[in-house]
Amino acid sequence: MSAPASATGCRDVPVLAERGQHEVFCGLTGIIWLHRKIQDAFFLVVGSRTCAHLLQSAAGVMIFAEPRFGTAILEETDLAGLADAQEELEREVDRLLSRRPDIRQLFLVGSCPSEVIKLDLSRAAERLSARHAPKVRVLNYSGSGIETTFTEGEDACLAAMVPALPETDRRQLILVGALPDVVEDQALDLLSKLGIEDVAVLPARHADSGLAIGPNTVFALTQPFLGGTLAALERRGARHIPAPFPFGEEGTTAWLTAVAREFGVDQAHFDAVTAAPRARAARAVAQAAEGLRDRSVFFFPDSQLEIPLARFLTRECGMRAIEVGAPYIHRAVVGPELDLLDRGPQLAEGQDVERQLDRCRDARPDLTVCGLGLANPLEAEGLATKWAIELVFTPVHFYEQAGDLAGLFSRPLRRRAALRLEAA
Ligand code: SF4
Repeated sequence: MSAPASATGCRDVPVLAERGQHEVFCGLTGIIWLHRKIQDAFFLVVGSRTCAHLLQSAAGVMIFAEPRFGTAILEETDLAGLADAQEELEREVDRLLSRRPDIRQLFLVGSCPSEVIKLDLSRAAERLSARHAPKVRVLNYSGSGIETTFTEGEDACLAAMVPALPETDRRQLILVGALPDVVEDQALDLLSKLGIEDVAVLPARHADSGLAIGPNTVFALTQPFLGGTLAALERRGARHIPAPFPFGEEGTTAWLTAVAREFGVDQAHFDAVTAAPRARAARAVAQAAEGLRDRSVFFFPDSQLEIPLARFLTRECGMRAIEVGAPYIHRAVVGPELDLLDRGPQLAEGQDVERQLDRCRDARPDLTVCGLGLANPLEAEGLATKWAIELVFTPVHFYEQAGDLAGLFSRPLRRRAALRLEAA
């Protein structure tokens, strides 16, 4: 069960640090997948009309259901009005909770308008929690676009849940990260076949899942953007299992290897459980990655999935990475990925968007992975692009999704080739 660390890995290569203008969605975006995952939660965004529009347009599909998120819109107000705003917010929450007995967890989500920043949402959450306990837990976090990238919304949400978890001495594993239910079930099934039974998930689907934490808890991240949650879990005495992320056949095997080692699973049993899904994943990747081999890829910093994806695309799909930009490079989280990523690409942390666009135009990559705001202009300049946000909305983790993950990158290249053919 050895993860093949490359002597030529990128852990120690110099990183281009950029601190300029950046182009990303804000952390409110995470609500769109979190409200599906945490089935008895309500997300109340305390924000402006812009925040309401973002949520409505990004999550328009919700109109047919009893919504589980909303926006308390704060109009411009003077400082004297703030005390009223604080009280009004708490009254609004009381009304919401009396109308909706299905809500068991309520998140007050902060945003970036200055009026909201002046409100003390943590005090509001504490007071409301005391009022509505034990039936409803009220927590708060920030989804502000001032200092976050869009995936940090999930990180802030999960980190906010950790201090409220009950204590346990149980020897257990927690999988950390919001995965689609079907993918989460596949992961739990694989772990169970390996003989690892005491497994919990953060975020749990329901408040009464029994999720608890303590000094005998170990945890494995399934998403690379959870640095704040990692720190919060460690503060509760849990221990992180560092591992590459379960993207592709190799990443999934390396992630499972790290967990299996922690629980003393023997090699023969590990091989017996993983052989068939590994072979399926390798076949699916090989098929879907046709057309990716020897093509070049350039990552703009956006989802924080960039480094694991660069590892997957270069090692399993035969691509060549030119630049791998990430909003943050958190070595405790992506260190094992950097060990596997062959030297060659420029690593960049943070963003100075104009400079990065210049580098991208000079390099003329075959595929550019970037946010929505950059994709259209780059497409107009003749570059094929992949929207980074799709990678968070699509099931891409573990063996059974490995082929789909490769397919997400080969599709834009096939589409561009088809358009060229038609135009010819
Ligand atoms: Fe609201 Fe700020 Fe996000 Fe805009 S960037 S939607 S104002 S939180």
